[in-house]
Amino acid sequence: MNAKVKELLNQQINKEFYSAYLYLDFSNYFKAKGLDGFANWYMIQAQEERDHAMLFYTYLQNENQEVTLDAIAKPDKVFTEHMDVLKAGLEHEEYVTSLINDIYAAAYDVKDFRTMQFLDWFVKEQGEEETNANDLITKMELFGSDPRSLYLLNQELAARIYSAPSLVL
Ligand code: MG
Repeated sequence: MNAKVKELLNQQINKEFYSAYLYLDFSNYFKAKGLDGFANWYMIQAQEERDHAMLFYTYLQNENQEVTLDAIAKPDKVFTEHMDVLKAGLEHEEYVTSLINDIYAAAYDVKDFRTMQFLDWFVKEQGEEETNANDLITKMELFGSDPRSLYLLNQELAARIYSAPSLVL
């Protein structure tokens, strides 16, 4: 495997674990505010990110590449408004999309078609992540300022259940 492609794939393990850590922090914020549904939504988001990390980890191992685990950064933002958390989530997903695109571009440059095929799932996944983050912001804009509507939105988010990723390595 090309050294740059390998390095980027290895770094992505850390980025995905950081994403899980960030969403745990978001979940923690909403739990403290008494919004258990929002806390549940971000908890499941964190589980998905851990799955993403493990997919990169397993892919590298399957390709006989040495995995190096790095320290996970501390989520450092302090939030005062619910909406700020949601917007930070969207911003983060847009950043992750740019990372996936960078790895894809590096694989494309060296005709690493297997890595491109592996990344195809993540390209689609990032589209869904951005859509979900945008939808949540729209709902919050529409309903967040009315306590009864916020209660119902919180109930809707409480119903989200975890499912394992459709990509199996
Ligand atoms: Mg992810």
